[in-house]
Amino acid sequence: MSNVPGIKLNSGATIPQLGFGVFQIDPQDTAATVRTALEIGYRHIDTAQMYGNEAEVGEAIATSGVPRDELFVTTKCNNSNHGYDDSQRALDESLSKLRLDHVDLYLIHWPLPGKDLYVQTWKGLEQAAKDGKARSVGVSNFQSHHLDRLAQETDTVPAVNQIELHPHLQQPEMREYDQRHGIATEAWSPIGQGKGVIDEDRIVAIAKAHGKTPAQVTLRWHVQLGNIIFPKSVTDYRIRENFDIFDFEITDEEMSAIGALDQGKRLGPDPDQFDR
Ligand code: NAD
Repeated sequence: MSNVPGIKLNSGATIPQLGFGVFQIDPQDTAATVRTALEIGYRHIDTAQMYGNEAEVGEAIATSGVPRDELFVTTKCNNSNHGYDDSQRALDESLSKLRLDHVDLYLIHWPLPGKDLYVQTWKGLEQAAKDGKARSVGVSNFQSHHLDRLAQETDTVPAVNQIELHPHLQQPEMREYDQRHGIATEAWSPIGQGKGVIDEDRIVAIAKAHGKTPAQVTLRWHVQLGNIIFPKSVTDYRIRENFDIFDFEITDEEMSAIGALDQGKRLGPDPDQFDR
């Protein structure tokens, strides 16, 4: 059985704290890579309509032999599918590609404030949850003022907020906001896309002290903070390495040393500026 801790969401569902992300995995490689992750023991897959590889994720799941109720599958409503009807229609297409009758989590990928459709889109996700097509619903890249608006104009608090979060962008205010409102924080690009963060001298030294790699120490830092993570890799030994983070602990002092590396530096777009 897996030793990955579960995190209880405000929907009542439990999400494995560590999953496998498939952003930028070529559709040609996706089925084999996801199968490898499932063989290693990953039970949580994070995909999106935008990634163009849902069908291949579905193929891997269907041929893996892993029972559906042991899996946690997330997909995200693409920026072109905002709106009450379109968000639900897009989920139907995702379910067909994934060969599933429900996803465990359906997210609004970006708020797109210029389009100003995220409240209607959220109402579409609420309906998808009522229809049993998504066990939990949430958002991604939402700032506190977007979440405030959902709270004022709709009935459901998102189960998660998936945001860019790694030692160079630690997002203390968003994490605190999420916690205060019962929203779980998911960290995208948890190892900073494999450059910069894991080259930090401090992280390299902590890794050496524990006989672990800098990527493992960075992932462990997230786990100890309570973040939900799903690092991406197409390389077998790294997929295995990223899963092997539950047999050691980093000290409070080491947590603080990594805490001191925050630069407030984004790798991706600013959600208040991004409208495509
Ligand atoms: P990541 O931080 O997971 O880094 C992945 C990269 O790091 C790999 O491509 C590889 O080059 C390197 N790497 C992986 N394992 C390594 C290891 N053990 N040692 C050294 N290098 C290693 O970045 P990511 O893929 O951007 O983020 C992870 C997941 O988050 C995505 O796959 C996707 O599911 C999600 N995501 C969501 C959004 C969003 O807007 N919601 C945006 C980006 C990513």
